[in-house]
Amino acid sequence: MLAQRLSATLQSLENAAIAAHRPVPRLLAVSKTQTAAAIAALAAAGQHAFGENYVQEAQAKIGELAAQELEWHLVGHLQSNKAELAANLFDWVQTVDRTKLVAALARFRPGDRAPLNVLIQVNIDDEASKHGCDPRDIPGLATAIAAEPRLVLRGLMAIPAPHPDIEMRRAAYRRMAGLFADLATRHPQADTLSMGMSDDFPLAVAEGATMVRIGTALFGSRATTS
Ligand SMILES: *Cc1c(COP(=O)(O)O)cnc(C)c1O
Repeated sequence: MLAQRLSATLQSLENAAIAAHRPVPRLLAVSKTQTAAAIAALAAAGQHAFGENYVQEAQAKIGELAAQELEWHLVGHLQSNKAELAANLFDWVQTVDRTKLVAALARFRPGDRAPLNVLIQVNIDDEASKHGCDPRDIPGLATAIAAEPRLVLRGLMAIPAPHPDIEMRRAAYRRMAGLFADLATRHPQADTLSMGMSDDFPLAVAEGATMVRIGTALFGSRATTS
């Protein structure tokens, strides 16, 4: 079942990339609320990179699955008081949106691990309730990240507003692609634009996503937690 969903998702990703004349993006399987057994099943079917939203929930699963050598991404908001734990657990943190977090992650990244891969999360729809930095803050944050030897600036991430009008979403993805192109001229190692989820990833791919973050299309719908 999971293996079938994985191959169907990879096929749609490839189709979207071919239609848009773009390279096929990386697939990040977002495994929040899913069990370690479900993750292991997807890993057995060939999926390598997994995304989690909550540091503590991830800690348990990463521990259980340590023997598998999977790649773990934090895609949920990171509180500063969890930066030490996050810097120890994850291979990527996709939600860096303030300089305080840059300093904390750099300070706590263990010296015996590879440098931590970091994406700057951008609040592309200027939603007051959302996390992510103002687009104008990207250059300053990028400079701060690039100055830290224990961090590698890999690019940008966004969660656009779930606008029912597809053209509004397209516009948000297009603005992200422009910001990413600007960033990459100054920071050539920035190779990742993380955007697109289960309900709209072909649109994100058409606008230049190099990584899509997919949960429900792979695992089925999540148990609702209150
Ligand atoms: C849950 C989540 C996803 C995946 O969403 P689906 O709609 O289940 O594909 C992607 N990115 C982030 C940041 C998420 O929290």
